Amino acid sequence: MTHTRIVTLATAIVWLLISGPTAAQEVTKYVRFAEGARVAYGLLEGDTIVELDKGLFDDPRPTGRRVELADVTLLAPVEPSKVIAVGFNYQTHSGERPSATYPGLFAKLPTTITGPGQPIVVPPDAGNVHYEGEMVVVIGKRASHVAEADAMDYVFGVTCGNDVSERDWQQNDLQWFRAKATDTFGPLGPVIARGLDYGNLLLQTRVNGEVKQSQRTKDLIFGVPAIVSYVSRYVTLLPGDVIYTGTPGATSAIRPGDVVEVELEGVGVLRNAVKRQ
Ligand code: MG
Repeated sequence: MTHTRIVTLATAIVWLLISGPTAAQEVTKYVRFAEGARVAYGLLEGDTIVELDKGLFDDPRPTGRRVELADVTLLAPVEPSKVIAVGFNYQTHSGERPSATYPGLFAKLPTTITGPGQPIVVPPDAGNVHYEGEMVVVIGKRASHVAEADAMDYVFGVTCGNDVSERDWQQNDLQWFRAKATDTFGPLGPVIARGLDYGNLLLQTRVNGEVKQSQRTKDLIFGVPAIVSYVSRYVTLLPGDVIYTGTPGATSAIRPGDVVEVELEGVGVLRNAVKRQ
């Protein structure tokens, strides 16, 4: 090989490394926040929020105002019309059950949604409440009968969620309604991140600082495109709707005074304390 050819080859390899498919996409983080009585959306840049003039799905523009993260309260990043969840979507959580051949869906309610730093409130007669750390998909566009190949066009981004579940009610009630849809059983946040590879993020859950769950989203049985496409066959998804994608590994009981953290790589940490009603 001539010297010129080697130089050309080396240049091509460097170019591929810089600009090829492995090059990192730009990641954008969105928040919803309260500043006194004012509520607004913003772009998070480091510790500063660039305020937006409208909601995330209404083509917002910066107002020109910047506020410090430390001076505001972050809220759940969206107010969904629907909260949908997938059960048994990691083999490590399914145990001996045979692998699902389609996503197992259930519903939570919009009133389960609670923001970062807000308490998970345990009703007095709930005795077996568990955490479920999950990646949550935020829908960006109305989606009905969407093909799997097109599904990512309808995804706005992802955030962290905790699909809090009362196991005794889940086992004994007619449906999972109380177990999954009690108020505050759907912590969500702190940011919605776009531009990440949602198919390979580390998801961790900690209780009082101890790691309880740790798995990558590449182990989801049904990934984000499959879930969005499947749900859209039955339910029209609207901007701001959220889908909890399932929890990995084992879960255990949490009690008043405990602090649960769900961390999704590239997104942040969702932290909620558990409180008795
Ligand atoms: Mg779950």
